[in-house]
Amino acid sequence: MAHQKQPEEIEEIKKEIEKLREEIQYHDWRYYVLNDPIISDAEYDRLFRRLKELEEKYPQFITPDSPTQRIGEKIEGEFPTYPHSIPMLSLDNAFSYEEVEEFDRRIKRFLNLPQDTAIEYSVEPKVDGVSIELIYENRILKMALTRGDGFTGEDVTQNVKTIKTIPLRLLGENVPSYIEVRGEIYMERENFEKLNRELLSQGKKPFANPRNAAAGSLKHIDPSETAKRYLDSVVYGHGIIKGIEIKSQNELLEKLKNWGFKVIPEYKIVKGIKNAIEHTEYIQKILKDFKFESDGVVIKVNNFELREKLGEKAKSPRWAIAYKFPSEEATTRVLWIESQVGRTGTVTPVAILEPVRIGGVLVSRATLHNFEELKRKDVRIGDWVWVKRSGDVIPEIIKSIPERRVGNEIEYEEPKKCPACGSSLYKPEDEVALRCPNMSCPAQLIERIKHMLSRNAFDIEGLGEVFITQLVERKIINDVSDIFYLRKIDLMKFHGVGEKLATKIIENINRKKVIPLSKFIFALGIRHVGEAVAKLLAKKFKTLEGFMSANEAEIESVYGLGPKVAQSVAKFIRDEKNINSIKRMLSAGVKVLPYEEEVIAGKLAGKTFVFTGTLKSMTREEAKRQVIEKGGRVTDTVSASTNYLVVGDLEGKTTTTKLEKAQKLSVKIITEEEFLKLLKD
Ligand code: AMP
Ligand code: ZN
Repeated sequence: MAHQKQPEEIEEIKKEIEKLREEIQYHDWRYYVLNDPIISDAEYDRLFRRLKELEEKYPQFITPDSPTQRIGEKIEGEFPTYPHSIPMLSLDNAFSYEEVEEFDRRIKRFLNLPQDTAIEYSVEPKVDGVSIELIYENRILKMALTRGDGFTGEDVTQNVKTIKTIPLRLLGENVPSYIEVRGEIYMERENFEKLNRELLSQGKKPFANPRNAAAGSLKHIDPSETAKRYLDSVVYGHGIIKGIEIKSQNELLEKLKNWGFKVIPEYKIVKGIKNAIEHTEYIQKILKDFKFESDGVVIKVNNFELREKLGEKAKSPRWAIAYKFPSEEATTRVLWIESQVGRTGTVTPVAILEPVRIGGVLVSRATLHNFEELKRKDVRIGDWVWVKRSGDVIPEIIKSIPERRVGNEIEYEEPKKCPACGSSLYKPEDEVALRCPNMSCPAQLIERIKHMLSRNAFDIEGLGEVFITQLVERKIINDVSDIFYLRKIDLMKFHGVGEKLATKIIENINRKKVIPLSKFIFALGIRHVGEAVAKLLAKKFKTLEGFMSANEAEIESVYGLGPKVAQSVAKFIRDEKNINSIKRMLSAGVKVLPYEEEVIAGKLAGKTFVFTGTLKSMTREEAKRQVIEKGGRVTDTVSASTNYLVVGDLEGKTTTTKLEKAQKLSVKIITEEEFLKLLKD
């Protein structure tokens, strides 16, 4: 070194290190928790490198909460154990709504409240992962403990630190001097499958489910190995809290959000058990959108004072119950296995089943995802199998039951040729999927058209699967764009289709020719481009022309999109055949609205909202943001031009100035539930 640093200089460096640390923590939170970064990866890397450099030169300033310290040393021997200051209990289960209602009645009996009291509940998805307790002292993550036997947990701090959604240091204001935060560590389904593929290719044993995979990864002796497995977290509870007072679950979850945690999604605070059940049904419906596995909801008393009064039993609290969605597994026999060609040419094995009722629905087909899985699960024609159905997802075969074989079961061979067009199938690198390379493959065309007409794309009614199949088989439709060239007489060639029906279908098609850019992009059925990705692309490229002339690098630079999507989109829009087919649609009168107009034409376009009272499910700021996002406006006072007055909880008051004024001016008055509905559809 050229010269010895002066104490003032050293002090400056310490300050810079502290500042960098805070900045990086903030950007980690924006990126991992909010999915909304405000600096580029390059800028982030610069900050990170600078911090690392300084810390290497001045190791005396390294602190355990530094973002550079997420990956620590290998763990020697066993994980040390520590007692939980408050035991981590399990939850009572309910398997029917009657049992949920009984839980509500029991609470009121216990508290000596009249049975018509509406208790406030928090209704949350039950995450099927590994429970964890995170202990923070003066903002810093001090220890992470597994549930263990409920009384003592294992210290897995080193591994937990690798999880990017867990703050090493609490952000924000009003931070308690000490807090035990409880939540769940899980592995996203996609990462689970990837991990299993890797393990298999290394000749190792795959994990049975994401939960086991998360548990195994959390207890890996090498944190750098844990880091590679991309675990994620959500939090939903607490142990001891010191320094501030929190009165309800609602308040806890809001605060946890502000301190930088990823909080349990889709939770809702409701009044009365009826509304709790309603939200339970909602969660069951959207289950498949969660990246974690969930098999039920947890219903908890919102108010902490009431919780205190209710207390705990030996193994579970009295103030919460886990409602498990109805059993969705059954055994049946595989009658046949066939190969099905999807919209992008993927060939998937599908089992034809002896029909079996699962959760009220008759199931006669189940997917096996891909041929590797078919082999791994060793499903044979004639086998007895366990079938699972969850939400609206296609039923799947969990496993075969070889114990029930009689000897005449037949193994299904992976096909070499496409069952629809006879082309030789191929397996792209790093993929398990088998694909048909023929862009004009009739099976692919049928699937692409079905997708294009579907509700969230062009939303054209009247053309079902059978119809489309015949149109393709008779070569009336040879390209997706041909839909817009259909004539009445083409349709009237089919048995049972008269002029009236044909006219109606053609009208349906014509009425839907104007389409927002994002829906159009989704309708194209590009691989890896679902609704969310289509929206991001529309937002970035604004117009159809902009989108069609995008290059791979530009697409990849869209936040949230990776190289896989970029490659797939670039390939699609460069393909002559696709370009022509889009041109033909436009010539037929399809009009693609630019993104800006799409936003303006949002559901709430031109509508003005005013709020009064307290909202339960979100803050007023959040409500405002959502209205604006959908093209509406929010003002502070009610006037004749107000379209809706949203009335939240008036906290004992019977009316407000705004409410009176709205009544006088006959402004439409809606409840929070009605408001949420408006936002949703
Ligand atoms: P059990 O082990 O089946 O009795 O259920 C209790 C466990 O459910 C807790 O230890 C948590 O790990 C887990 N859990 C998952 N999601 C939640 C949630 N939203 N609220 C409370 N506990 C949850
Ligand atoms: Zn084919």
